[in-house]
Amino acid sequence: MSTVHLQHEHNRETCRQYLESLGDYVEGTLAAELCREIEAHMAVCDNCRIVVNTLAKTITLYRQMPSPELPNAVRERLFAVLDLAPYYRPGPESGDKLDSVR
Ligand SMILES: [Zn+2]
Repeated sequence: MSTVHLQHEHNRETCRQYLESLGDYVEGTLAAELCREIEAHMAVCDNCRIVVNTLAKTITLYRQMPSPELPNAVRERLFAVLDLAPYYRPGPESGDKLDSVR
């Protein structure tokens, strides 16, 4: 363990930009380049690292449940709990049900 601390001003504007992509990041749908940027940022920002860890754990938990769907209401609450409510985006299926696909 080294005691090297990288200089990091807690730049909320920077964090906010990354936080907007964290959902995609933990779901593995974010471009590799952006993933690396986020990982580099997390290396110097405890705040974002904690958010990602929490988000990833929560999503993993939900995926282990019988129902793979995360209702928008739950997502919304999750984001509120994580203090990310401003970044909440409803799922793509908000609105119509896709029960006429087949
Ligand atoms: Zn940050």
